[in-house]
Amino acid sequence: MTGHVWLVGGGPGREELLTLAAVAALRDADVVLYDRLAPHEGLARLAPHASLIDVGKRPGHHPVGQEGIEQLIVRHALTGARVVRLKGGDPYVFGRGGEEVIACRAAGIDVTVIPGVTSAISVPAAAGIPLTHRGISRLFTVVSGHAPLSPAELEHLAGLGGTIVVLMGIGTLPSLTQGLLRFGMSAAMPVAIIERGYSAAQRTTIADLGSILTEAATRGVSSPAVLVIGEVVRLAHDGDSEAISALASAASAGSGG
Ligand code: SAH
Repeated sequence: MTGHVWLVGGGPGREELLTLAAVAALRDADVVLYDRLAPHEGLARLAPHASLIDVGKRPGHHPVGQEGIEQLIVRHALTGARVVRLKGGDPYVFGRGGEEVIACRAAGIDVTVIPGVTSAISVPAAAGIPLTHRGISRLFTVVSGHAPLSPAELEHLAGLGGTIVVLMGIGTLPSLTQGLLRFGMSAAMPVAIIERGYSAAQRTTIADLGSILTEAATRGVSSPAVLVIGEVVRLAHDGDSEAISALASAASAGSGG
């Protein structure tokens, strides 16, 4: 008998941000393979019948490689198990979820995809930043900063307007900021970096494009973090008064140019 795979988005890390469908899939699971950024602290309770397998990914260190993960999913499903593949955020946003679905289908296994609350939208919200706002931004672009962007991509982004959201962008922050400045984005453009969204250690750093690199280095900003570039950053509220006043003082000092 062939099992079934649920590819589940776990949201940005806090249990209340799991969907009802995700909770139901976990409750019935025999096996759960989860990532580091998926909400995993309550898994023993949420998936009481399941064996829990940590295939945690972190930058530059994958305990189980992507191919190994796909083989594990397929191997468990072929024993007839109900397999939940639990990912951080939404499984189809930079999560390699599509590859896992293809691997399952190739092995004759049915997959149900359960979308999740993506960090691209929810982590800015945790810092009080709306990605769109009437009169300020009517589009947002979500970019992976895993590898440096090409000059053509940087040129398009710099001219696009609206809001730019970057995931996995801490390592490539220098090339991103330099590239956007080179292609004409204003050094005064507000930038926010929100680290560890929805955890007790959530922290927001706000500066402008001209000073964010120095500011991030000073504060020792690290992954996981979501970057937001755009005028909407000025709307940040709730618990981020310190960060907002930093932006205001940068503007009045004229450091943004
Ligand atoms: N599928 C995920 C994204 C996977 S890429 C989603 O939809 O959210 C991993 C990146 O997501 C991290 O490097 C970071 O940029 C971002 N991320 C995920 N959870 C986060 C969190 N709780 N706080 C800050 N950034 C987070």
